[in-house]
Amino acid sequence: MTDALGRLRALQARDLPVHGGRTLAYVYDSGLAEVDRIGREAVAQYAGSNGLDPTAFPSLLAMENDLVGFACGLLDAPADAVGTVTSGGTESVLLAVQTARDSRPDATRPRMVLPDTAHAAFHKAAHYFGVEAVLVPVGPDFRADPLATASAVDADPENTVLVVASAPSYAHGVVDPVTEIAGLAAERGIRCHVDACIGGWVLPYAARLGRDVPPWTFAVEGVTSISVDLHKYGYAPKGTSLLLYRSAAERRPQFFAAAGWPGYTMLNSTMQSTKSGGPLAGAWAVVESLGDEGYLALTRDVLEASDRIVAGIQRVPALRLVVPPDSTLVALATDGTCDAFTVCDEMAARGWYVQPQMSFAGRPPTVHLSVSAATLAVVDELLVALTESVSAAVAAGPVAVDPAVAAYIESLDPATLSDGDFEGLLAASGLVGGAADGDLALPARMAEVNAMLDLASPPMREALLVAFLDRLTRPAR
Ligand SMILES: *Cc1c(COP(=O)(O)O)cnc(C)c1O
Repeated sequence: MTDALGRLRALQARDLPVHGGRTLAYVYDSGLAEVDRIGREAVAQYAGSNGLDPTAFPSLLAMENDLVGFACGLLDAPADAVGTVTSGGTESVLLAVQTARDSRPDATRPRMVLPDTAHAAFHKAAHYFGVEAVLVPVGPDFRADPLATASAVDADPENTVLVVASAPSYAHGVVDPVTEIAGLAAERGIRCHVDACIGGWVLPYAARLGRDVPPWTFAVEGVTSISVDLHKYGYAPKGTSLLLYRSAAERRPQFFAAAGWPGYTMLNSTMQSTKSGGPLAGAWAVVESLGDEGYLALTRDVLEASDRIVAGIQRVPALRLVVPPDSTLVALATDGTCDAFTVCDEMAARGWYVQPQMSFAGRPPTVHLSVSAATLAVVDELLVALTESVSAAVAAGPVAVDPAVAAYIESLDPATLSDGDFEGLLAASGLVGGAADGDLALPARMAEVNAMLDLASPPMREALLVAFLDRLTRPAR
């Protein structure tokens, strides 16, 4: 036998660190080694079990009901509330949209109304389920605009199956006016989903700690479903989220059964059928270990870290806060002396991962930070790295794209481009090195690539990145 585990460790050395609080997107670190160990061991213990049939693996059903019960307490759920453990935020959002669509067979051209800051998972749901996504620009405070939302609904109320609000939005970290949005949906008899995938496990504890948290839970009249990820601020291993409904009747269209074949009757609550019990057991073990007290302490830490980042960046010239955060997500913008993409590269060079966000709806690119509890221990180092990174970015000057290249990119229409055109564009962009052996030479610095992508229209960005992903995913043989 080859030393597969040793080779895995070697392979993993090239990945972003998942511990240490220096990776400020994708991973969420409690900083508690013992809790991580328990979560990992539970995943391993259940790696081979199958959530396909709750009667065959009753322990999985018990864990799911425990987790939903715990979340009911956090989310002010009424006595009749029910929920499902899913594989992640995207699956929770997909199911919320599919369920809303299927609850309204009368809607011949189903549509949903979203703030334009709603997570991309809703665009995916629109694409998968044939539900039109009607995007409503947010106000100057980056929050959903209730009046504009009402008019968007009223343009075709008979076909509107869902209205969405975020608590908070991923890109800007602010909570939408859920009371107004859910209220206008309820007045019209339309479902309202609150996407609390990233904030749902933080905001209730923030409120208990005395923070000013705008109302967003089932306590708000008209909220019919809520998504909350356990693999974000529940600090659970990857692969779990929760989707809760105000009542069992509202969840019913989510479930799927198929008896029209000669095998077992397929009966599924989620999109997967056979599914590992590992993530569910991992999340259950982490939630049981931390409990309310554990989450309260982690929330105190992560909010302190966020506050100190917000205060610290006021002292960094050339950097500004996009909007004061309602939770633990910080969005930063630069002035004209440097650019967000170079700041991200400079941070990476110093051992920090912060996430570039492209320009959108006339607003400039930003730097995103999902702060973790573990970041508190290194927050002073983070601020030093940010100060140095911004100085280096100012010294380098804003990343420039050749005006001729810029004009070309802005003129491109993905609908008219061939696969060959995309190959050429990828090579020209520096995204693909074009090595003959198929090895991809990803540039160490991404600022130039990001600046070029940023000039492209969103549909062009999508098409280019899809071509890129296609090129990345080729068999090793
Ligand atoms: C992360 C996130 C999602 C999608 O969750 P995944 O777990 O990445 O699939 C949806 N909505 C919001 C607000 C999120 O932050």
